[in-house]
Amino acid sequence: MEARLAIVGGGPAGMMAAIRAAETLSDGSRVVLFDKNDRLGRKIYLTGKGRCNLTNRRTWEEFAPHIHPNQGFLKQAFRAFSNEDLICFFEEELHVPTVTLQGQRVYPASLVAGDVARALERRVRELGVDVRGGTTIRSLADLASYGAVIIATGGKSYPVTGSTGDGYRFAEEAGHTVTPLFPSETALLPRNYDPGLPGLEMKNVGLHLYVDRTLVESDQGDFNFTDDGLESGIAYHLSRRAVWALVNGQRVDIVLDLKPALTEEQLANRVLRSAGQTDSPNARQNLLNPRGISGLKNPPLHQAPTRQFAPKALKALSLMPEALINPFLRAHPGLTAEGLPAALKAWSFQITDYKGYERAVVTAGGVSLKEIVPKTMASRFRPGLYFCGEVLDLDGDTGGYNLQIAFSTGALAGTHAATYLLTH
Ligand SMILES: Cc1cc2nc3c(=O)[nH]c(=O)nc-3n(C[C@H](O)[C@H](O)[C@H](O)COP(=O)(O)OP(=O)(O)OC[C@H]3O[C@@H](n4cnc5c(N)ncnc54)[C@H](O)[C@@H]3O)c2cc1C
Repeated sequence: MEARLAIVGGGPAGMMAAIRAAETLSDGSRVVLFDKNDRLGRKIYLTGKGRCNLTNRRTWEEFAPHIHPNQGFLKQAFRAFSNEDLICFFEEELHVPTVTLQGQRVYPASLVAGDVARALERRVRELGVDVRGGTTIRSLADLASYGAVIIATGGKSYPVTGSTGDGYRFAEEAGHTVTPLFPSETALLPRNYDPGLPGLEMKNVGLHLYVDRTLVESDQGDFNFTDDGLESGIAYHLSRRAVWALVNGQRVDIVLDLKPALTEEQLANRVLRSAGQTDSPNARQNLLNPRGISGLKNPPLHQAPTRQFAPKALKALSLMPEALINPFLRAHPGLTAEGLPAALKAWSFQITDYKGYERAVVTAGGVSLKEIVPKTMASRFRPGLYFCGEVLDLDGDTGGYNLQIAFSTGALAGTHAATYLLTH
């Protein structure tokens, strides 16, 4: 019997590898694809809030900064199977039309993630791949009879989908180093989280990440306050460094800039101008609430009440969503007109916790890239062994980058593992 290729993991990376391997071998039955679940690509159904953000259409130069920790490693795989190749593959080979939406994010035109998972699985089966669903591989030793092996077991995040980090163990079995793992693209929980914040969506704001009181990263865009803390969009983007700092016992602060397009001075002028437009002869005084901060259950008693902002006055200035006003005032007791611009530009949250793997979009860390050949995804230690997808020490920001990593590295691993079988 001819030697066969075993692929462990039927996620996007494993399915892509199976497709390319079956095509290269011109005989799908020589490829055996194992997955714990009966249905392949279970995580894909959850991606992009059920819409599946397949990739991002940015050029490599713009794409690369969203890849961590070593964009250079992905460059070869991206060249061999780029975002444009991925779009062609879905449209022409899988007959899944795509659409490019805001931020160059590419989705299936149906905006149904299941269409992506089902199309991939259909292609895998069409090519005659021997799919063994409902089968958990426990050790590399289980696969000793195979001529080549691809590990595509994903990371540790959303373990309910089957990604429980088994591949890290397999890598160590083969003598590989697994770099420290931590959840990324995850919610960041502030100390004394104001109960008025969850449910608020922040649009076009700035976030600055401070580690041990030093500014390390900033971003501008959208995020949400949820029950779990600061979540999605730019909060996810900063979460990678924030979580790593927390893991290392460092102090983490996130500073929210509610008006990133305006300087403090411009904001001060705007506040004064708005005050001047009110009816009172003493316009500025109108911004101050002589009775303290009305609407608050426990107004701070120690501040001079005549200098505090009224929620009413803040509402009149239209500087933030109405629902944000009370939490904002609670976070800035005794706020004065003079202090308002600075407070709008720098609302500080000390981050003390984060959501773990059960809710993190991606796992950072993984099989050390130094030990993998970037042109082929082959192990530098064990001939015939390949790795692809999230099990590698490679992760991306949200925006389609993680699936592109899975597809690019999966395509390369599939092609080269099959070539290895043909030549050995
Ligand atoms: C909620 C959510 C939303 C996301 N949205 C997006 C998005 O819109 N765009 C984007 O680019 N990325 C997104 N991601 C990230 C992306 O889904 C992952 O990075 C990607 O799925 C990783 O692909 P993979 O094939 O390496 O691993 P996985 O998709 O994790 O697949 C690994 C497979 O291996 C199987 N397996 C594991 N161990 C074994 C074993 N021992 N034996 C047999 N089988 C095993 C698992 O059952 C699983 O099916 C999202 C992630 C989450 C959690």
